Amino acid sequence: MISTMYHHVNSDRCSNNYEVFEAHLKYVSENFTSVFPKKELPKHPICLVFDDGYYDFYTLIFPLLKKYKIKALLAVTPKYILDETDKPDSLRLSYEHNDLFQNYKDATFCTYKELKEMLKSNLIQVVSHSYSHKNLLENDVDLNQELVESKNILEKKLGIIVESFVFPFGKYNQKVLNETRKHYKYSFRIGNAVNNDFHGVNDVIYRIDADNLTQADEIFSFSHMLKFRLKALSKKIVGNT
Ligand SMILES: [Zn+2]
Repeated sequence: MISTMYHHVNSDRCSNNYEVFEAHLKYVSENFTSVFPKKELPKHPICLVFDDGYYDFYTLIFPLLKKYKIKALLAVTPKYILDETDKPDSLRLSYEHNDLFQNYKDATFCTYKELKEMLKSNLIQVVSHSYSHKNLLENDVDLNQELVESKNILEKKLGIIVESFVFPFGKYNQKVLNETRKHYKYSFRIGNAVNNDFHGVNDVIYRIDADNLTQADEIFSFSHMLKFRLKALSKKIVGNT
């Protein structure tokens, strides 16, 4: 099971060029079946995950997912999500990647109103990416807030069940993973490997970095897939963390 990770389209960092991204989604729609985390998988499953929930997800990415009927997870951080906003698009989309978190009050992230609207399409599943996007290995982290409160807030605000967690910066250790497992069925990291199913590799789902694509099918080439399979095999032997 392939899982892919994305952030922006047409931004300055962690981003894809709009035309390449659209061609990539078209390729995905023709060659894979997009799925949310579950036990029974179709042939050629792929799980697309968009991190952080920036406003360009609503304006640029979601319309393309609808066009190609592709399902995707959107991993969000409740600390930065506003209920709704009357800030203009020109302001919301004006910040560079590195300034988006500190300017969240200008609605640089999708609002709850926008998340609710997207959920209605049944193409989006909103999952937790922690409460405040902190590295969970740092000493002063409130794990309960990052893991449990983030889930509770999203479930209450959106009327959904949250079963998946995406580690901020892909960072975790065995202690964090054990704690995560108490509250979530599925955990995602970064790592450029493929998974047999949603148990992932040693119970963590690896995602392939799909930002900065140069062509539509780049990550699916024979040589890339061979590399991703070998990585999964080596991680199975030596462990995840
Ligand atoms: Zn993130």
